Amino acid sequence: MPPAVFRFAPSPNGYLHLGHAFSAMLNADLARVSGGRFLLRIEDIDPTRCRPEFEAAIYEDLAWLGLSWERPARRQSEHLSDYRDALERLVARGLVYPSFESRAEITRAIAEQEKKAPWPRDPDGAPLYPGTARSLTPEERSRLLQSGAPYALRLDMAMACRTAGPLSWTERGQGPRGETGTVTADPAAWGDIIIARKETPTSYHLAVVVDDAVQGVSEVVRGQDLFWSTSVHRLLQELLGLPQAAYRHHRLIRDAAGQKLSKSTDATGVRELRAAGVRPADIRRRIGLA
Ligand code: GLU
Repeated sequence: MPPAVFRFAPSPNGYLHLGHAFSAMLNADLARVSGGRFLLRIEDIDPTRCRPEFEAAIYEDLAWLGLSWERPARRQSEHLSDYRDALERLVARGLVYPSFESRAEITRAIAEQEKKAPWPRDPDGAPLYPGTARSLTPEERSRLLQSGAPYALRLDMAMACRTAGPLSWTERGQGPRGETGTVTADPAAWGDIIIARKETPTSYHLAVVVDDAVQGVSEVVRGQDLFWSTSVHRLLQELLGLPQAAYRHHRLIRDAAGQKLSKSTDATGVRELRAAGVRPADIRRRIGLA
């Protein structure tokens, strides 16, 4: 059996907090006890939010925590052509269409609908895209494309689900309602998701499945907040003919008020704790790792 391959995949859009430390250390621990490999991936496809100083801090903080990963880390911004190729394959199969509405226009259209009846929401609670641009005529579509208007490329979810057929995944951890073992994927719950944009040939979902395949990741260990994203990842793997990993979604580290950590603060930031004289062993104890 080839060694299991684990990865920690932070986005350099802020400093690491205790939630990241938990995820990174859990991945590294599992790799160590199973004789597996531990990789680091920098998810920096969004140039408006990612900054070099955050990336430098990721390397520094992880090393201070005592982690070592195979070098070099994979940086998504250096692999846009891989994502473009995958995108082209979905486009060639007629599974993707451009939508030209602004976020505000979509919000307004949904608000109108919601006056009549509740509007469906995705697993994160965001309203589903109404699918308006799916029915543009080829003429309207090429006129809008030629006009230079910005657009998002969306997956035609109904068609994608028909093409892929029923899907499931192996869950070694737990979903938000205790889901474990073989979990039935429900990508349709996300509606016509954005898969790329005019300026960026990818999205989080597309880049993650391409990278997990390219890097040979066999065990995806990440926070429970991404549990239902796995439905989309399984769908894209199936459509692109990529291998599937096993998944382990772990509990989320919460702040004193019980909220999921979203940014690092004095009380939860790895850098801040380090500056305050806290030791890596104290951090392990605090987040409940033996
Ligand atoms: N980059 C994602 C994040 O920072 C994690 C992606 C993943 O583990 O699949 O939330």
